[in-house]
Amino acid sequence: MAHGRPDTVEAADLGYLRRLYADPSATHRARRLTAALLCAAVAVTIVLLAAAHSRRVTVNGQGVPMLGRLTVTDCARRLDVPLQPGDLVDVSGAVLQTGGGRPPVFRVNNALASADQRVHCGDIVEIAPAGDLTEPVQQTARFITPVAVTTKGPKPMPWLTETGVGGIKYVYRGEISGKVQAVQLAAVTPAHGGIAGRPKRVALTFDDGPSAHYTPQILKILAEHKARATFFVLGCWAAKYPQLVKDIVAGGNEVGCHTWSHPNCTNLSADALRGQVRRWEAVVNPLVGGQVRYFRPPYGAVNARVRQVVNGMGYSVVLWSGDTNDWRRPGSNAIYSRAMAAARDGANILMHDGGGPRDQTAAAVKRLVPDLQARGYQLVTLSELHGTAEPWAGEFIIHTETGDLKLTPGDKRLTVMINGRRAELPITPVEIEGQLLLPARPPLDMLGCTVRYDKSAQHLHIGAPTLSLEMDLNRSMMQLGSEEVWMAVPPVLYKGYSMVPLWILMDYCGADATYDPMTKTLYLSSKYGSSARPVRGSDRYSVALGRAPHINISEDTLWHEKLARTF
Ligand SMILES: [Zn+2]
Repeated sequence: MAHGRPDTVEAADLGYLRRLYADPSATHRARRLTAALLCAAVAVTIVLLAAAHSRRVTVNGQGVPMLGRLTVTDCARRLDVPLQPGDLVDVSGAVLQTGGGRPPVFRVNNALASADQRVHCGDIVEIAPAGDLTEPVQQTARFITPVAVTTKGPKPMPWLTETGVGGIKYVYRGEISGKVQAVQLAAVTPAHGGIAGRPKRVALTFDDGPSAHYTPQILKILAEHKARATFFVLGCWAAKYPQLVKDIVAGGNEVGCHTWSHPNCTNLSADALRGQVRRWEAVVNPLVGGQVRYFRPPYGAVNARVRQVVNGMGYSVVLWSGDTNDWRRPGSNAIYSRAMAAARDGANILMHDGGGPRDQTAAAVKRLVPDLQARGYQLVTLSELHGTAEPWAGEFIIHTETGDLKLTPGDKRLTVMINGRRAELPITPVEIEGQLLLPARPPLDMLGCTVRYDKSAQHLHIGAPTLSLEMDLNRSMMQLGSEEVWMAVPPVLYKGYSMVPLWILMDYCGADATYDPMTKTLYLSSKYGSSARPVRGSDRYSVALGRAPHINISEDTLWHEKLARTF
């Protein structure tokens, strides 16, 4: 019986389910229930998500969930934003003051906020992190006066070099530390020539020539750059190429004795050595016009006996301070580099223009000469280097920005009379391009002008009766009142004196000028406030020099009128 009951129940349940699923309306109800449950779940999720989202703040663009109370500082910590103030550091990065740096800066919703300000859901928090603070930087500007080239000091003073162009030096310096952060140079043109005093000098010396092939090449390079050198020639070659020896001298170069036939002098008897030198002198002295000063022993081989013999014949023994070893033919680059490395003030650099193929030497010299000059060296002869000779008497070349001017010393017999009084000139007037230049003082003083000469800047200020002139020596532009005036012949620096063209004295400083060629007297008289007139003389100075003054002025018609004038 028990066995029959479960069957009944089972049959009843099955019947219910059969009925249920067989009934279409019941199936529909169940589906609706499931959909409703799903919708509710989605809605709850959305609500929960929305609630979670509103429990956040935005810190430096990132969302940070709000979990309880939150301050600005807490926000910063969540993002690992540094909050400890950095250090105050100098321009080199060294700490000046620990903790003296920049503190963090907080903003909440774009308003400055304190570190402990509370933030709320949805706030936008910005935190500028703490950091180091660099001390303030101060900029100072200093005018750099052109490099001065003075002609004072020990002889020789072979020529004047350009004075360079002034520039501005900016220095950036930490205000607290005083340390220099940066230096900037503006508009500075390096000048040839040494600083303060005379320029640095180097003597290039060439042995074993003259060579028909290489000596002319080297002479040409030297001449192109107005450089000079010393040639220790061999008597045997000088006899073969006498014209080359003359060419060497004509270029302002010096000739030295290197014996007749290049023996090792230490192996010679005193008489044999004397014979070598006498034979050399017989050929070379007439070519150079006299006794030469220096003797360089072949191979540098010298001993007491050699010195005694050649000193007794009037020579100084000269070796070298720098050896290029050019005779080994190491390549022109090596020769060039060795010579550049050996260059210093007073250096005497050994090379060879004869005795073998010297094309490498000539190629090196071609670069060497301008490059040494660009480094401020004057290339001089040994006599000039040792100060045992007057500078080459040939000429002075004044370098200006518009070109080289050849300066010739004027006639030493010229007398200058100013307002009836004889002017005691500290230096003979000079001539450039047909114009006479007088030392600025005393003539300008005597004409009633004020003269201020700034030696370091090589700037000349002339206060004339009706205007003032500002000019830099060796520079073709002058400031005349508010005008810039170009001069073909500028005032120049010559042997330490500022020399002013005569036409400036006449056109701007109120001088009347007449010249008496018979007595070689230049009469200057002041148009302003002086009764003194020229005593005699009829020829205008321009007549004596036969040229018009060089004045060439911009567009201003006033200056064209001046141009038309001659004196
Ligand atoms: Zn030699």
